[in-house]
Amino acid sequence: MSRHAIALIDLDAFRHNYLLAKSLSPDARAVAVVKANGYGHGAAVLASALPEADCFGVACLEEALQLRQAGIRQPILLLEGFFEPEELPVIVAQELDIVIHSADQLACFLDYPGAASPRVWLKIDTGMHRIGLEPKSFRQACDQLRVSGRAGEIVAMTHFAAADDPDNEFTETQLQLFDRSLQGAGIATSLANSAALVSGPRYQGNWVRPGIMLYGANPFIGPHEIASRIRPVMTLSSRIIAVRQVAAGEGVGYSWTWRAPAAARVATVAMGYGDGYPRHVENGTPVLVNGEIAPIVGRVSMDMITVDITGLPTAGVGDPVIFWGAGLPAWEIARRAETIAYELFTGITGRVRRSCIGWS
Ligand SMILES: *Cc1c(COP(=O)(O)O)cnc(C)c1O
Repeated sequence: MSRHAIALIDLDAFRHNYLLAKSLSPDARAVAVVKANGYGHGAAVLASALPEADCFGVACLEEALQLRQAGIRQPILLLEGFFEPEELPVIVAQELDIVIHSADQLACFLDYPGAASPRVWLKIDTGMHRIGLEPKSFRQACDQLRVSGRAGEIVAMTHFAAADDPDNEFTETQLQLFDRSLQGAGIATSLANSAALVSGPRYQGNWVRPGIMLYGANPFIGPHEIASRIRPVMTLSSRIIAVRQVAAGEGVGYSWTWRAPAAARVATVAMGYGDGYPRHVENGTPVLVNGEIAPIVGRVSMDMITVDITGLPTAGVGDPVIFWGAGLPAWEIARRAETIAYELFTGITGRVRRSCIGWS
């Protein structure tokens, strides 16, 4: 065995979280969002472990094709639709669902000369202001699409800007604008990311789109009871490769950003920002050494991290160290790095071995 940096992926936890999302939105179908290689966890293996998924959501055709090549037969939704008209023949052949989010994209789709009848998710910009049709023009676009006979089914869709903050009234404003934009179109709806899904049936519509909660991270900006019901999917771990005694006043790591206040025992672990562990965590960010909490001291470097194990006299070379996972939530580490769990997960680099447990 060489370097021990491993992301252990718990497929049973992923299924548990999907089934929990379903149970929280029993009247809706659910798109399991596995874009960006399943938020860094490995999209194909996750999708293969979820035969009950109603649909998968990805960011682009390449991600969808990876799933098809892995034998995934369920519907797959391209969350931004096609970027070039040349993608349309492949989209049709692979029976993919598409988002249409602009007048230009709609015109391009209607001009496509070949036969096509994908399910089209017609996106309305209710305030996020990234992509989506103007609320006022939605009904006309919807009718145009319907009359063309080019869509197998039409779903009205929008995306919330601040559902992760239950106190933010903007989610309600967006919901009302969405309802008004439909003007009685009488079609299926899709609004909710993980946070909105957990927030209740009001925001769920006919199709929910959970992402981050499937990976076991709290979708809210603050503490929430859902955090105790979802299970972490990724455990990022490595091992201690060296231990040394440091005298009071001596510095550790680049620029000696930490100096031992008293004689200390410091462990060096084979993990670093080259693996995707955030360099900007503050001194004192916890890790689990043999299951016990110990603080990171000094700068995170590319391949190594130093941990104060003075309080763990039996810890030594070869012992396992967990950076996030069960018992150490990724969103807690994200907070220490002033980021979000999404970024930690998707930042795990190629040299970290991914290994799966569960679902055989
Ligand atoms: C990524 C994404 C989601 C999932 O959001 P989470 O916050 O991870 O639950 C849902 N809908 C769209 C359009 C997305 O791009």
